[in-house]
Amino acid sequence: MKTTPDERLRALELRAHDEMARVEAFCADWPKLVDEDRHGLHSVVICGAGLSGLSIAFALKRRGIRSVHVIDQSEEGREGPWITCARMQTLRSPKYLSGPDLGIPSLTLRSWYEALNGADAWDALDKISRQDWMAYLTWFRGTVGIDVENSTMLSSIDPAEGGLALTLTKGDGASRTMTCRHLVMATGIDGCGGPRIPAMVRALPKSAWTHSNEPISIDFLGGRDVAILGGGTSSFDWAVAALEIGAREVTMFARSADLPRTEVLAWTNFPGFLGHFADLPDLERWRFAHLYFNFKVPPTQEQYDRACRHPGFIMQLGCGVRELSMDGGKIRLTTANGIFHADHLLLGTGYEINFALRPELVGLIEATAVWKDRLQPPQGEENAMLAGHPYLGPGFELMPRHAEAGWVSRIHMFNAGALASLGPISNGVTGLKYGVPRIVGALVKALFIEDSNRYLEALAAYDEPHFDPGIDEDVTTSREVLA
Ligand SMILES: Cc1cc2nc3c(=O)[nH]c(=O)nc-3n(C[C@H](O)[C@H](O)[C@H](O)COP(=O)(O)OP(=O)(O)OC[C@H]3O[C@@H](n4cnc5c(N)ncnc54)[C@H](O)[C@@H]3O)c2cc1C
Repeated sequence: MKTTPDERLRALELRAHDEMARVEAFCADWPKLVDEDRHGLHSVVICGAGLSGLSIAFALKRRGIRSVHVIDQSEEGREGPWITCARMQTLRSPKYLSGPDLGIPSLTLRSWYEALNGADAWDALDKISRQDWMAYLTWFRGTVGIDVENSTMLSSIDPAEGGLALTLTKGDGASRTMTCRHLVMATGIDGCGGPRIPAMVRALPKSAWTHSNEPISIDFLGGRDVAILGGGTSSFDWAVAALEIGAREVTMFARSADLPRTEVLAWTNFPGFLGHFADLPDLERWRFAHLYFNFKVPPTQEQYDRACRHPGFIMQLGCGVRELSMDGGKIRLTTANGIFHADHLLLGTGYEINFALRPELVGLIEATAVWKDRLQPPQGEENAMLAGHPYLGPGFELMPRHAEAGWVSRIHMFNAGALASLGPISNGVTGLKYGVPRIVGALVKALFIEDSNRYLEALAAYDEPHFDPGIDEDVTTSREVLA
């Protein structure tokens, strides 16, 4: 009998719960402590309900951590880049990578896709569309029961007794304070900074340019001449998007004379590297991160071919833009290959690590250690960009720049800012299966050790009967007497 997609998804959810029961996916409850949530502290607040935040919330739930609160500034179903600022057709990640499922087969992307479209459709699929990926994450969230407080922005972080005081601001501007023992910043690719905007671009009127992280429609580019800064993947996403809504001409300007061809994430995807990069000495991590950041992210073959097929697409490689100015309502680009004009500028310039760009982090700058505070690289191996990255501990925790700032280690940066310290295990699908167990292991350890004396008290008071000899107390006494 033919079943509907909803019926098949329902059956899949039941199968997922059955599988979780079979593998004891959810551990037994932790012993209750006397005045457990003293001071009204949440055990963990997770800021960000995207791929990472949902996976970490699921893993904490499996480890029996109570009082976990997840927030996201986005509306429900619009978390992350997938249906907001992303403009590519498909993810770059291979479809077979395991993600938030954390090993439960019926929670995988494949099971969800096959339930909806059948096994043949999965076999025929090259890469998952970004819209389907978002639909899968939304289904996953509902199936494993992760509650999220959406339209809630974390706007500041301060120390508090036994934890942190967070200022949460709602869409209507109302704010309140929430306290927690640990905070996870699952805030994505710009979680430790923001879009990289060259100074010469900032000098132009904002109406003249758009960065790839802006979730806006670009229909206004129809019939117009567009210039793109950068030759990496987001620049090709821009090119295809602009050409397909009818831009007259799209010219991509890239400093490098050649296009990036190698996806560094493909090399990193082995247990030694993803599992133990974080355990390497500082200088080795510095050297790996230096090499890693030298790889630019190539476009997908599909995006590249799509752009090149279009007669209005021009690539100016080895052509850095030296100066930008407005010229009679148009943008004048002074480049290595001469002067060009465009109606609008699209930035494929990526992101930078800079706490000053984030309201919730600016207050942490003075207290937080960065790499230049912990490592003086050998001569010739300096790297100003890396030196400004946060120097994180093995549980993604911020490290204090001075003794009075120990409280910052309750903040765990599970975002792109963690790469130099822990490797690519918190910035996408590939490393997720290594990053999530590492941060959750650290959180569970911290929550237990911080309360170990209270667990000792709880054990001392423990008298749960697990055996009933079926005889009264005073009989027991007589038996002793007898014995
Ligand atoms: C265009 C684009 C394409 C990409 N393609 C891929 C790909 O194919 N494969 C891949 O592995 N990775 C890809 N990435 C990397 C991508 O960032 C990550 O894979 C993914 O988004 C990481 O998930 P996340 O949950 O860590 O972050 P996100 O999905 O970005 O989620 C972070 C969430 O945090 C919320 N947030 C941020 N700050 C606050 C705050 N102060 N208060 C409250 N909420 C906040 C945001 O609203 C957002 O919902 C791509 C990134 C972009 C931008």
